[in-house]
Amino acid sequence: ILGAAPTAEEGAALVKSYQEQGILVTLVGGIIDQCIEQNVKMGASLRVIPLGYDVTSVIHVVSVAVRAALIFGNVKPGDAAGLMAYTKERVPAFVNAFSPLNEVIVAAGAGAIALGFPVLTNEDTFEVPGALIPKVAPADMNAASLDARNIKIKITKIDIPVSFASAYEGEIIRRGDMQVEFDGSRVDCCELVHMKEPGEIEDHKIEVIGPDLDEFEVGSKHSIAYVVEVAGKSMQEDFEPVFERKFHSYINCIEGVMHTGQRDMIRIRISKDTFNAGFRLKHIGEVLYANVKNEFAAVVDKCQVKVITDPELVTKIRHEIAVPMFNKRDERLATMTDEAVDVYYSCIMCQAFSPSHVCIVTPERLGLCGAVSWFDAKATNELDPTGPCQVVTKEKPIDERIGEYEDVNEAVRKFSHGALDDVSLYSIMEK
Ligand code: SF4
Repeated sequence: ILGAAPTAEEGAALVKSYQEQGILVTLVGGIIDQCIEQNVKMGASLRVIPLGYDVTSVIHVVSVAVRAALIFGNVKPGDAAGLMAYTKERVPAFVNAFSPLNEVIVAAGAGAIALGFPVLTNEDTFEVPGALIPKVAPADMNAASLDARNIKIKITKIDIPVSFASAYEGEIIRRGDMQVEFDGSRVDCCELVHMKEPGEIEDHKIEVIGPDLDEFEVGSKHSIAYVVEVAGKSMQEDFEPVFERKFHSYINCIEGVMHTGQRDMIRIRISKDTFNAGFRLKHIGEVLYANVKNEFAAVVDKCQVKVITDPELVTKIRHEIAVPMFNKRDERLATMTDEAVDVYYSCIMCQAFSPSHVCIVTPERLGLCGAVSWFDAKATNELDPTGPCQVVTKEKPIDERIGEYEDVNEAVRKFSHGALDDVSLYSIMEK
């Protein structure tokens, strides 16, 4: 975004709209002060990056686009035509330039257009179809920009008073910024998905049992349990832990909320800013409800959420329901052997940050993270057959003693994009 919007409110709203869609936004010129004025948090981890006040600082983001072509597109230095073809086709970037435009901004905009990035402006100037789109009101810029680049975004609109976006996933809430904390290492906490009969569930019922955030002292620690009850014709108990593993990501996507851990070892911090914006416990329920219904629509017909902070009730839920349930799941796996199954599963969930990483998950061999069991991988595959966990056959043994199979090696080669040739499941000494 180049220049200042007509008002600071409009500028900040545009920036936040992109941030909520998971789009990286870089800022040049007056828009930076507008964001500061409107308390928009900025930084690389929040995907809103101020580059500088002078229009020439736009070169930093051009550099990112060019490097994308060199690194990921294998474009050779000096191949200008190949570079421009790559950025046009593969780098879904665009420019929003606010009026008044001067010659330097126009020159920078022409450079963007040459790379295939359309420029949208609110200035009343001439149009170059698909390249320079004038007279776009600030409120329409988001939709017009996505349209110009044919970007389709699946958004889950959730009724909460703060933003919900993957940009907030790595956000750290420091003790001094924290309104309250729920800490499973000190008090009883747990998170649980429980399959029920359809008649036992009232869809979208969010219940808070116990004191809410405004009844806690600033900086205090408390117990929490949230139980997500689901029902559906194709729902299976095996899917419960798969949903639970996603809670970490869902809750972290809330602006000003930090979540770590899983099962009964969780910690959640809620920031003062988020509390002051009106965030309360029912909103945790809203986030869990919306995401479970959205992501697992194929198997979840009805969903209700209970958020419990009554300490005695949380202790009861943790020890009498959650822990026995976790133990039952673990015991089921503990009695299974690799020989007892016909197939293993691959998992590439970590390729988001480690592009050639692949795990082969077997009953006796969890994924590297320790959080994906053979049952979890199986359920993930059933829920999303083209997703991160794929069936790996084990029909062509090379050496069963060290767990080497031709078909497992083939899978490892395929999913690591050739970075790994083979794997022995039981030995790091011999192979
Ligand atoms: S099983 Fe492997 S790839 Fe999958 S989430 Fe765990 S560490 Fe990552």
